[in-house]
Amino acid sequence: MKFVSTRGQTEPHSFSDAVRVGLAPDLGLFVPETLPDLSDEIASCEGLSYPNLCYEFYKHFATDVPADELKEIIHRSYSTFDHDDHAPLVKLADGLHVLELFHGPTLAFKDFALQLLGNLYERQVSVRDDPITVLGATSGDTGAAAISGLHGKTGVNIYILYPDGRVSPLQERQMTCTGDENVFPLAIAGNFDDAQAVLKEVLGDKEFSSKVNLSAVNSINLARILAQCVYYLYAWLKFPADQRESITFVVPTGNFGNILAGWMVSKMGMRVAGFRVATNQNDILHRFFSSGDYSVGDVHASYAPSMDIQVASNFERFIYYAFKENPDKTRNVMLRFKSDGAFQVDDDSILNMMSSSRMDDGEINAKIANVYEKYNYVIDPHTACGFKDLEDIDNAVVLSTAHPAKFPDVVKEAIGQDSTHSSLEALKLLEPVKYPLSSPDADTIRSFITSNTQSMQV
Ligand SMILES: *Cc1c(COP(=O)(O)O)cnc(C)c1O
Repeated sequence: MKFVSTRGQTEPHSFSDAVRVGLAPDLGLFVPETLPDLSDEIASCEGLSYPNLCYEFYKHFATDVPADELKEIIHRSYSTFDHDDHAPLVKLADGLHVLELFHGPTLAFKDFALQLLGNLYERQVSVRDDPITVLGATSGDTGAAAISGLHGKTGVNIYILYPDGRVSPLQERQMTCTGDENVFPLAIAGNFDDAQAVLKEVLGDKEFSSKVNLSAVNSINLARILAQCVYYLYAWLKFPADQRESITFVVPTGNFGNILAGWMVSKMGMRVAGFRVATNQNDILHRFFSSGDYSVGDVHASYAPSMDIQVASNFERFIYYAFKENPDKTRNVMLRFKSDGAFQVDDDSILNMMSSSRMDDGEINAKIANVYEKYNYVIDPHTACGFKDLEDIDNAVVLSTAHPAKFPDVVKEAIGQDSTHSSLEALKLLEPVKYPLSSPDADTIRSFITSNTQSMQV
């Protein structure tokens, strides 16, 4: 299997090369050259353990990683989870399930992708005998999960840009308290979109990229999207066969990586009723799916900070598929978006590919309280966004993207009780290390990376 760019001006890449560079050289995103039709095969995967299902899915894409190594890497990656089921499906009522995706080491769904990606990077460093510089931007959970996947790994330095003061104190501790010298949390002045913009600029600098072997760990990385496909299949297979087609997956959404993964599996043959994009008050995606208007607004800090995003980087992959895999059209739309900050789509067949909802902070607070009262179940503020207007859906599977203990203040305000987790309590005893950058332009970041790259060894 080869991977091509959504913008059509990059040579097809192998899986390992596409994963290593992250962003395609033409600034598009990598997608499989063709999506395999798995409709017959997936029905026979019923009953597989999570890592075994992951292998059965992933082997179609990671075709340049030897099977026995891939299997071993996958099993090792998911051995860090604290629940035997990895992604338990919890029934709250008839037609309402929660898919708990917070049993990994940093208690958010991003661990599913980043535990695996960390081990794939480590394999590449040893196969190529060449160190890698990993760069990412985070609104909170990506950075923590990426650092958890990569800290202490030989031949990898990881730099994570995050908006100073806009990630929760516990998220910040997850990034800054590893005690490992290959981890560089960069606290920048600005918001997440500023971090993402400078990240794109540094990644787009080809000379610098090749000098330090730069790789993007953000949700644009193909390996992450593919890893996230697996829990949709896993949940789908837990339903009786005659109910599967009635499922609507409801996904708290920011950068659009999570929901895109599920939607791609549906294009490979996992038949469901639909997908719903659940946003917080930063609602560009809700405006798009409800009216066709994709125009950037200002980012407003919310109770669900990992969704405080306006420019959803994975949306380009959706546009590519919505435009029937036409790279020229995709490139034109993305370039127009870059110059105008907006584009319009009035084709209903595209707008109907997903439904959407929006929730502001007041509703998030009320919903956490309401779900607790009704089902005696505590949800975090991101997951709460998924509980909007569920009456419209017959058979909803709401993806729970984080453990409530990661956002103790909002949860306490809503239900009057503390939500804790032992791994977070342990962090409070450690000494944080971070690098504040008051003028976070591309030059500053390049020189910071260069000065820390010299000492790297494989
Ligand atoms: C990252 C994140 C999201 C948003 O996921 P995307 O893939 O960016 O849409 C939602 N909730 C939590 C807790 C997250 O960490």
